Amino acid sequence: MTALEITVIPCLQDNYAYLVRAGDLCAVIDPAEVGPVEAVLKASGTRLTHILNTHHHWDHSGGNRELKAAYDAEVVGPEKDRTRIPAIDTGVDENGWQFGDFKVQVLEVPAHTRGAVAYVFGDAVFTGDTMFVMGCGRLFEGSAEMMHASLAKIAALPDDTKVYCGHEYTLANARFALSVEPGNAALQQRFKEIEVLRNDGKFSVPSTIALEKATNPFLRTNSAEIRANLGMAKADDVAVFAEIRRRKDNF
Ligand code: ZN
Ligand code: FE
Repeated sequence: MTALEITVIPCLQDNYAYLVRAGDLCAVIDPAEVGPVEAVLKASGTRLTHILNTHHHWDHSGGNRELKAAYDAEVVGPEKDRTRIPAIDTGVDENGWQFGDFKVQVLEVPAHTRGAVAYVFGDAVFTGDTMFVMGCGRLFEGSAEMMHASLAKIAALPDDTKVYCGHEYTLANARFALSVEPGNAALQQRFKEIEVLRNDGKFSVPSTIALEKATNPFLRTNSAEIRANLGMAKADDVAVFAEIRRRKDNF
């Protein structure tokens, strides 16, 4: 099996697109815009073969049409959102998708949008706006229950899976996480590391599933400290999740 090569491409203010290469194949995931993606393709002499979207929002698919026209690339996105993915060719669902030798696992993760998916390439997961580093996306088209289940689906991947998300929101997410779980030593440690990283202008991606489980408050609805701070010691997980999300919306 050919090795995967992943390149982070910052777009717009705080979006991330990603280039995934395997042999002669090259996919861009969530091209918000064309310029930064083309610059990376040209610098590496790579021909784009596929365009993948995690969801239909313009800051994840704004480059679809122009990149497709320029490279004759195939546009792949959630079948459930076929009508909202610009220039879509191939709709995918949990049956997965084949990228050369790679069987790509597709997780349907509705809540931020109805059709949102995450793509699992070997030991890397591209989560779009569903799971962020120490955060999660807003509930535009789904309930707290749906997002809780969608995050659980991603969190069930192996601990060493690398997490590549759709935005650099990490420092703000870490501040919020500390506000609900200030006694979490792993979180305190990570906040310090992220501050240094971001001061140096470095990306906070990739994270890992293990790190997220230890520090992402949206995966930690069973934390006794979080529950105590919310006054929800005995509430069910979805209720705790909904309250954390509500507080983050107002943070
Ligand atoms: Zn979005
Ligand atoms: Fe977004």
